[in-house]
Amino acid sequence: MRIRRLSHFGIAFSLIFTVLIMAEAYLGNDGLIKSVPTTHKVISLTFDDGPHPDSTPKLLAILREKDVKATMFVLGQSVDENPALFAQMVADGHEIGSHAYNHIFISKLNAKERAEQFEKAERSIMIAAPKPVLFRPPGGGYNDGVVQDALRRGYRTVLWSIDTRDWSRPGVNQIVNHVMKKIKPGSIVLMHDGQYDLQTAAAVGVIIDRIRAEGYTLVTVGELLQYYEERE
Ligand SMILES: [Zn+2]
Repeated sequence: MRIRRLSHFGIAFSLIFTVLIMAEAYLGNDGLIKSVPTTHKVISLTFDDGPHPDSTPKLLAILREKDVKATMFVLGQSVDENPALFAQMVADGHEIGSHAYNHIFISKLNAKERAEQFEKAERSIMIAAPKPVLFRPPGGGYNDGVVQDALRRGYRTVLWSIDTRDWSRPGVNQIVNHVMKKIKPGSIVLMHDGQYDLQTAAAVGVIIDRIRAEGYTLVTVGELLQYYEERE
């Protein structure tokens, strides 16, 4: 009898535990996104740290040629320094996300400094674009506080599932092969158009052709989220 009562308790406990895990999984999906669970062959290309006077025009040209809309996580400071280029990004139809104002580890800031990073970036972006709803923390540095703060400000925090490490200039082939090896439905690819003379623009044209040849469609992160499917 005693054993049976214990096992009832065990069942109740594991039910509560399951509900808690499900709640956490849901919140995790809502606040922090690394990829989107889906059976549809859709992926997103994302570009951080722009706009930059050398890298961004090359990137915009190839995206225009291939008719692809990407998600650009811009730095508020770079927007202020390159307003015409930023306006071009927006005019080309790319989705604009916030990458904070400076390239600073936002998880290490106090509440006031963090608020300043969000708000200054928002002011710069909103000169030419709608209020962004996607946030990517510089360096991918985040904690629960950052994710919750971003949510309160109307942002979902977006990381990535494929890191091309294009900033280290590994060569066009290496960037392309890495993406092609890792790609699956719902992937989010991390690339850059920041401070460097990168191989990114050259790699992107090849990546687009090859992933399209495998039957994938390229969409922005905002569009990708609409393909979210609950998993059993
Ligand atoms: Zn960055």
